[in-house]
Amino acid sequence: MDLEFTDEQEQFRASVRGLFERRFGPDYVRTCDARREPPREAFQALAELGCLGLNVPVEHGGAGATAVDVAILLEELGRGFLDLAFWVFRNVSHGGHALTTHGSAAQKAELLPRFAAGELSICFALTEPESGSDAAALQTRAILDGDRYQVNGQKVFCSGFRVSDYVLVATRTGEDKHGGITALLVPTDAPGLTASPIETIGHWPLGTTLLAFEDVEVPADQVLGVAGGGWRVITDMLQYERLCLSAARAGAAQAALADAVDYVQQRHQFGRPIASFQAVSHKLADMQVMAEVARMLVYRFAHRLDHGRATARDAAILKLYVSEAYKSIADMGLQVFGGYGYTMDFDIQRHFRESRLGVIGAGTSEIQRNIIAKTMGL
Ligand SMILES: Cc1cc2nc3c(=O)[nH]c(=O)nc-3n(C[C@H](O)[C@H](O)[C@H](O)COP(=O)(O)OP(=O)(O)OC[C@H]3O[C@@H](n4cnc5c(N)ncnc54)[C@H](O)[C@@H]3O)c2cc1C
Repeated sequence: MDLEFTDEQEQFRASVRGLFERRFGPDYVRTCDARREPPREAFQALAELGCLGLNVPVEHGGAGATAVDVAILLEELGRGFLDLAFWVFRNVSHGGHALTTHGSAAQKAELLPRFAAGELSICFALTEPESGSDAAALQTRAILDGDRYQVNGQKVFCSGFRVSDYVLVATRTGEDKHGGITALLVPTDAPGLTASPIETIGHWPLGTTLLAFEDVEVPADQVLGVAGGGWRVITDMLQYERLCLSAARAGAAQAALADAVDYVQQRHQFGRPIASFQAVSHKLADMQVMAEVARMLVYRFAHRLDHGRATARDAAILKLYVSEAYKSIADMGLQVFGGYGYTMDFDIQRHFRESRLGVIGAGTSEIQRNIIAKTMGL
């Protein structure tokens, strides 16, 4: 396995990084975060750069790029602005990847070019008030009536709904726990679908919502994959999602580390920079090790995905390690900022808040450990 990037990949990385340096620097990120506003200008700029169709096949208006390319994009977005990375990840994973892999010919022809152009965005509604970690216990019901499904139920923590045109909804269409699940593509403005914001400690620019479905009608040709085959679509998508989220968090972890390195060199106590205290510099060294291992795991997993060799265990190891590493780096980073880390004046507070979601969302760290232990025969 070669961990070197091609010249083209290095240029691509530089062009994404350059966008943050030139147009969407720290002040832009802070403003979107404080005002809880989606980074629409940055999203548009990424569309113009051709980033949004990165993994969409060429015949549908995309670049047909590899998982390694997608990881490069998300690592850079995570370094620059994690919530922007999350917006793009949903399009790349639930849009580009899931539609390309499971969509009908008509769905691909209609939707993929529009995702690639940045005209459409999508979010995902799996979690329900009574089914979180036990996701397949979902109860939102879709009943087929002629050529339409009628959907009733509740979803919780549907993130990015406010910027989305479609929501991919996991519904129950049969009694078998895993074999009775159907994935439906539902327009976010469908009559009978209402969203209420949930107050959280982070993820502010995109936000998360409680969704209520009351007799929402969805044409039967909006099934993604086949009726009753939703669990396959979801597990495949979650594996791709683990790459995207982990790449973004590996990038964000590097940004938090860079902030901490800067700060400890500038801050003086006892007549010298606090970086000169071993208790401080050793923290930074540990953070550096975690950031590098996280990054290596991201590209190892992307490489395996590209070669059809990625397993559920690889995905769980990746998700567990990278999200825990980002959380530790943000926590240790805040510590070296002392009292100033606890104020809203430095970006390290945002990393501290955002990194907390990593070990909960899309499968908690405990659930990842369960998956890994099971593959060890435990
Ligand atoms: C900000 C935010 C955004 C989110 N975005 C989305 C989204 O866009 N779409 C979506 O569908 N969902 C989303 N989620 C939901 C997220 O995936 C769930 O919160 C997560 O899977 C955990 O489910 P739960 O909250 O119901 O916790 P629970 O399942 O109730 O778990 C509570 C605790 O018990 C532990 N636990 C449960 N079962 C086991 C077990 N078998 N072994 C060991 N420990 C266990 C958990 O690890 C956890 O610590 C989001 C959540 C948040 C907070």
